[in-house]
Amino acid sequence: MQAQKKGRLFVFSGPSGVGKGTLNAKLFEEFGEQIAFSVSATTRAPREGEIDGKHYFFISRQEFENRIANNDFLEHAEFAGNCYGTPKSYVTTLLEQGKNVLLEIEVQGAMQVKASMPECVSVFILPPSFEELERRLRGRGTETEEKVLARLETARRELAYAPQYAYQIVNGGDLDAAYQELRSVYLKETQQL
Ligand code: 5GP
Repeated sequence: MQAQKKGRLFVFSGPSGVGKGTLNAKLFEEFGEQIAFSVSATTRAPREGEIDGKHYFFISRQEFENRIANNDFLEHAEFAGNCYGTPKSYVTTLLEQGKNVLLEIEVQGAMQVKASMPECVSVFILPPSFEELERRLRGRGTETEEKVLARLETARRELAYAPQYAYQIVNGGDLDAAYQELRSVYLKETQQL
């Protein structure tokens, strides 16, 4: 019997407001049957419209710490005062089933995945400029000024990691152009090109 071909693990990072969620959603729209999104665990409170088990598994800090102790996470990190982690067994099961798995995670976690699974495909989504990122973040209008400033500071730190990713894609306003780049990376790395 031929062994099931394993899926590929894609790790996406990029500062908040850069459009990585939109780009990944487009990839899912086109290649949905080949792709699975990993659902992370987090200690942050759900935002309006977020569903437990779909957007995140919302858990307490105590539960999060228990899971770290059990070695349940492929990676975990603290971001803006909250903990985030990728459930290991879920990801490995999907990869074994031949699904290409997408992780949308911040940079510290991405570096841990790169170290433990060097065969992963790492992609960093960049804004065209820092000023544009600021404009986009403010445009969302969902957060207080203090939070916007904190996110901008975090973004500045995150952007410094971009060269450590295998691919860098600039989302410079033309979403379709950025998507075409992402699509080529996906097809190449899944040997469909
Ligand atoms: P948000 O709170 O806006 O949903 O996410 C904040 C940041 O945490 C984003 O950069 C998001 O990609 C990242 N993130 C979400 N899930 C995980 C995870 O499981 N691990 C890590 N390291 N980062 C995550």
